[in-house]
Amino acid sequence: MTHVYFDASRPAPYCPGCGHPHVLRALDEALALAGIPRERLAIVTDIGCVGLADPFFPSLHTVHTLHGRSVAVAVGLALGDPGNGAGPLVPIVLIGDGGAGIGLLHLVHAAQLNAEVKVLVHNNLIYGMTGGQHSLLTPPGMKTATTPGGCPVPPLDLGGVIAAAGGGFYARVVAPGGDVAATILAAIRHPGFAVVELMELCPTFATAVGGITGKELKGIPASRGLALGIVRQDASRPPLREALGLGRHPDGSGAVGGESGVEPEPAWRHLDRTARVVVAGRAGERVQSAAVLAAQAAMAAGLHATVRTDNPVTQGTGFSLAEMAFAPEPIGYIGPASPDLVIVLAPEGQREIAARGLWGATAPGGGILIDTTLEPPEGVSVQRRDLRGKYGPKGAALGALVEEIEARGWWSLQGWEAAIRLQPRERRAELEAVLARATAGVIPSA
Ligand code: SF4
Ligand code: MG
Repeated sequence: MTHVYFDASRPAPYCPGCGHPHVLRALDEALALAGIPRERLAIVTDIGCVGLADPFFPSLHTVHTLHGRSVAVAVGLALGDPGNGAGPLVPIVLIGDGGAGIGLLHLVHAAQLNAEVKVLVHNNLIYGMTGGQHSLLTPPGMKTATTPGGCPVPPLDLGGVIAAAGGGFYARVVAPGGDVAATILAAIRHPGFAVVELMELCPTFATAVGGITGKELKGIPASRGLALGIVRQDASRPPLREALGLGRHPDGSGAVGGESGVEPEPAWRHLDRTARVVVAGRAGERVQSAAVLAAQAAMAAGLHATVRTDNPVTQGTGFSLAEMAFAPEPIGYIGPASPDLVIVLAPEGQREIAARGLWGATAPGGGILIDTTLEPPEGVSVQRRDLRGKYGPKGAALGALVEEIEARGWWSLQGWEAAIRLQPRERRAELEAVLARATAGVIPSA
């Protein structure tokens, strides 16, 4: 059989008789039939044996997530814009019955949101990778590593939970044995959140310990009064992107275009390499929102941008820090390489910069800008400027970013103006005032 995305040449990491490889091949078939451009497909894997699937789809976007969190990550992917011009991603989540239990609320919330996410729940009745413990979907009486006398707990009706949360599509299919590819394709084509529960065999634990055979597996749904096939298909609610005014894609799997941003204007782009910036200040003083605005300004100018933020668990106190990268090419690594520019605005941020060893870690030709209220460590060369006085505590991060990026000429002023137009109307005047102050007397870079 010819595979489109699935790399059948890779040695399978699965036990003989495991249901996972069959589903992965069926997924490949469904994706090929869906006709969605490769650039828009994203495989999001959870922890578990099926979570080893990423390398089998080498030509697709793949994300391997924390246990139970794959659906939440996928919702974020579905809402974002990969910026490659192809349109929004269609995330396909591969999660086990174990992960579905751990992340049950993420499933519920994604169903409530009607996010453009397709979830394949590989239900082999136990946690496979961790040694065959019982899960939320283990049938009553089944022996597992944690229920050697038989599972005393009734299984959850996952389809009922998803329906109660407003999820519009739920299918249950035995793999192999059912029409797996066609069912996955129907889920992909459903406009909004869709779940396919795949009844699979784990010979190593469900059979060897639990005594479940392939024939018994097929009979489990009926024994619980649950149907096989597409058991719920209701497209009456708009999918999330549409509900947010982001448009709807004709293939039913997501939106393209819409009002998600501005058309990038490459004429505003002047940066010809990757540049990294760190801003550190006090929580609640808009360090992180300034970083996001800078990234939007860079993208409006046709650059690629990433933002990674950090603050203590206790919101509103302590430090707030944002790392940014800007580049003319896609940014594959956002890690803590030497920054070109470090901006420090408050003592909390100063301590965090010291804790991360960032004093003196700037790239060759890089610089450190600190507020005049701060004293730099001995021997560290910095520029000091009255940023808090000039812009106020909540405008200092943005003011400093605009001043420094304008001075370096990474992109034109129009990029900032376009980014401000993306902000909520009630915030724009305040942001425009910061921009005007930061650029007063500056000759625009283009
Ligand atoms: Fe498959 Fe079970 Fe083996 Fe994991 S332990 S690979 S789920 S058969
Ligand atoms: Mg499992």
